[in-house]
Amino acid sequence: MTASPRGATPAAHPGKYLVTGGAGYVGSVVAAHLLEAGHSVTVLDDLSTGFRDAVPAGAVFTEGRVQDAARVLDASYDGVLHFAAHSQVGESVQDPGKYWRNNVGGSIELLSAMREAGVRRLVFSSTAATYGEPADTPIHEDAAEAPTNPYGASKLAVDHMISGECRAHGLAAVSLRYFNVAGAYGSYGERHDPESHLIPIVLQVAQGRRESVSVFGDDYPTPDGTCVRDYIHVADLAEAHLLAMTAMTEDEGRVPSGTHLVCNLGNGNGFSVREVVETVRKVTGHPVPEAAAPRRDGDPAQLVASAERAVRQLGWRPSRTDLAGIVQDAWDFARARARQEQAGRP
Ligand code: UDP
Repeated sequence: MTASPRGATPAAHPGKYLVTGGAGYVGSVVAAHLLEAGHSVTVLDDLSTGFRDAVPAGAVFTEGRVQDAARVLDASYDGVLHFAAHSQVGESVQDPGKYWRNNVGGSIELLSAMREAGVRRLVFSSTAATYGEPADTPIHEDAAEAPTNPYGASKLAVDHMISGECRAHGLAAVSLRYFNVAGAYGSYGERHDPESHLIPIVLQVAQGRRESVSVFGDDYPTPDGTCVRDYIHVADLAEAHLLAMTAMTEDEGRVPSGTHLVCNLGNGNGFSVREVVETVRKVTGHPVPEAAAPRRDGDPAQLVASAERAVRQLGWRPSRTDLAGIVQDAWDFARARARQEQAGRP
């Protein structure tokens, strides 16, 4: 596979971390990176959308909800990386209560469990959906926050809760606002069931699992009328999480107790839905038929990041920025999964 783990730089200060949602896509890749750097990892996941076999070997696994964090956390933990959440824009419009209950309710419980256990460092998986329809592109962190769907609103509410916790109780926190995460890292990749995200859906067409890809709206105010997104490789994203934790643990204290740093993570390049489909055609050699479909509720026309702050403050250097390379890694992962399924393995 082209996406084989490259071997992480060993951590200067090996720590012990709780990863909520570590059986999911981003959480499993970050857990794998933490372990490769020499940290200890406990994964807390209720397996509602994650997979037991996605939890990296070497992590301690506890099956449970974020609301159960108090059962796991104690003063021996150096920090928490919080991924466990529902993350589908369309579903959040149909069933907003699910997003408030789980994403916001779970985070309230997590923050109080952290306070009680004396665990005072947090990296939070936030999202570009907190900004809504941006007035300017690329989006900087001081852009207006006006989410267009309950998913983004629920993540923004958690960001506000975290800011309050930092001010009132001395938490140190970094919220990382992801743009569109894609690609795979070795045997860790995107496995939603049913699949809802663009690149894995288009790859399913290339695998013969779907007849065509529905293009949700072609009358947006973008060059080809389809939505534009900033696709970021999941391994680049994972590296930012380790840098964020380092910024809170190191002596010079870039993110000291009482501080909440918010950073966008994206490559600064926008690709339309049609450009993504075309890239999949080139990578896979499959014709990938398209079908026009209505706009999906809650979708902004364009989301492209400025990640200057993450570069400046965290020392982040994304290195897998080419869309064809990102798609290639996701394609290698999808084919490896299909081979495993054919062989009768989970
Ligand atoms: N999209 C699409 N067809 C699909 C899935 C997604 O046209 O089957 C579009 C979607 O409307 C959005 C873009 O692809 O404009 C990326 O969607 P995705 O769900 O992957 O990520 P999101 O932007 O919602 O985080």
